[in-house]
Order: sequence, then C-alpha cells, then structure tokens
Amino acid sequence: MPEQISSIAANLARIRERIARAAERAGRRADEITLVAVSKTFPAEAVRAAYELGLREFGENRVQEFEAKHPKLADLDATWHLIGHLQSNKAKRAAQLFNRVDSVDNLALAQKLDLAADDQEKRLPILIEVHLGGEATKSGVTEGDLPALAEGISALTHLDLQGLMTVPPYSEDAARVRPYIQKLRDLRDELSRRLSKPLPALSMGMSHDFEVAIEEGATEIRLGTALFGQRSAQ
Ligand SMILES: *Cc1c(COP(=O)(O)O)cnc(C)c1O
Repeated sequence: MPEQISSIAANLARIRERIARAAERAGRRADEITLVAVSKTFPAEAVRAAYELGLREFGENRVQEFEAKHPKLADLDATWHLIGHLQSNKAKRAAQLFNRVDSVDNLALAQKLDLAADDQEKRLPILIEVHLGGEATKSGVTEGDLPALAEGISALTHLDLQGLMTVPPYSEDAARVRPYIQKLRDLRDELSRRLSKPLPALSMGMSHDFEVAIEEGATEIRLGTALFGQRSAQ
C-alpha cells in the first residue's frame, strides 16, 4: 500500500474507533454519524485514497480549488460538500460542482443558488451555516437572523433545506465548545418546529471536537487534519 494510503487508513481506523466510543457514550449508533472528509489543500490523489478506503462524502471550502481537482475525480461516486464561505458570483458554478452547499448564510446567495439549480433542472440540497460566538470574521448567519433566513429559503422551490452547520469558536478544551454545539442543536429543533419540517442534518464537529459533537447529536462531522494530516497552508 502506498505510504499516503496507509497513513490515511491508520488515521481512519483511529477515527472510527473514537466515533464508536463517543456514540456509545451518547447511546447512539455509530452509523448515524456521517464522516465528511475535508480535503481542502490536499491533492486529488488524497481524495481518491480516502475514497478507496470507503469514504464517500467530501468537503471542500473553495469553489476554485475544487474546480481544479474535480476533473481527476469525476469518476468517483461521491457526494461533494461545499463547506466554505461562498460569494454570490460563484453560486452558479458551486451549484454545478457540488452536491450540497453547507455554508448558505444569506438570502441573496440562496436566491442565486435557487436560480442556478432551476437552470440546471435540479433541486439543490443545502445547509444554513450559523455563526455562534464572537469572532467577527467568520461566515454564518447570526442566531437572530436565522429564522427569517430559513423562512426565506423555504420559499425557494429549487433549494432543499436539510439542516444546520456551524464552526464553533476554536478551543482545545471540549468543555468550552460544548455550549455552542448544544446551541446549534437547540436552534435546529426550534427551527424545525417553526417550519413544520424535519431538518435532519446537524453538521458540527471537526478534528479537535468531534467527540463532543457526537455526544450532542451531530449527524455529520467534518474531519480534515485527523484524517489527512496537517495542512501546510490556510
Ligand atoms: C477546514 C474545515 C474543517 C476541518 O477542519 P479540521 O480541523 O482539519 O478537521 C471543517 N469545517 C470547515 C468549515 C472547514 O473549513
């Protein structure tokens, strides 16, 4: 086995073990949790290696970066998630390249995606990214603006709102991340009642906090470094 595949394989085995234990602590089944492999900055070969190990969901944070890798990966039967901030002027391309946009955070963007999906004669699954915590630079809709955005999106017939995503403020200490993760679950539950619609997807949990996220109900965890190793840039 080439070196890259064997190190990803070893990482994946450890991750699966940790997912299983976190799920068990929470009285959940490990197969309720989808692992989204975050391949940003890693080459197409790393994505293919992960695919060969059985992973089928991948997250990229930039349209242009994925556009460059995509030709080498077009034969894979994978689900591609856009997890990074999306500018409206790239909405059309994003709707073509990705199977789900997990980072929708404003209505103008949602409207562009809806138009693009209509043009492409499909219904595009999306998540709303919620911004919790203080950092000003991060993307995501605020808690206060979430209900109006979700209602606006629900009126767009070519978008399929499936749930919420968040990137909590970074902390090595899981105890400090847990309240944000609980908050996202509560917001999802409230929103689901308000819209009278199931919102099954809760995408929360990254390499340093995924066990807490699983304990608090994450249905999807997005792992980059834990799976592929340290990123050299970004
Ligand atoms: C990079 C990234 C991740 C993965 O982060 P790791 O700490 O490497 O697991 C998850 N979600 C988003 C939105 C990201 O940009």
